[in-house]
Amino acid sequence: MKLIKSLKREILMYDKNNIFAKILRKEIPCDKIYEDENFLFFKDIDPKAKIHVLGIPKVECSDFSDFVSKYDNNLVSQFFKKTEYVINLLGLNNGGYKIISNSGLNGGQEVPHFHIHILGGEKLNFKL
Ligand code: 5GP
Repeated sequence: MKLIKSLKREILMYDKNNIFAKILRKEIPCDKIYEDENFLFFKDIDPKAKIHVLGIPKVECSDFSDFVSKYDNNLVSQFFKKTEYVINLLGLNNGGYKIISNSGLNGGQEVPHFHIHILGGEKLNFKL
């Protein structure tokens, strides 16, 4: 049962042709903010704030739960440490910012590779 469940998840989940997978393979360009061996942070093509950066792990993961459940604690915690590093790099720590991750249909996720939105650089007038 457990095996079927995990196989089902593997089969259903990751689309290797999603736009962020193409960015990671350098098939399409991006405006890079920071990159290391595990993660890439780049500007959103359609910014919803003065500063709008997306952060992604380089491993195959379709959404937040897929990333956190499939990969080891070290990689998951590194991702959040790196997100904070980039927030600093962007100078957002003083003025404040939002971090958002949309997941699945109900969450309004469009690109099925886990990503975090970092928004800031101005007063953000939308509230959850
Ligand atoms: P989601 O709705 O999946 O949480 O967010 C996907 C984000 O990816 C959107 O904010 C959208 O503007 C951004 N996006 C979609 N295609 C591209 C692209 O080709 N390049 C970049 N840099 N961002 C993209």
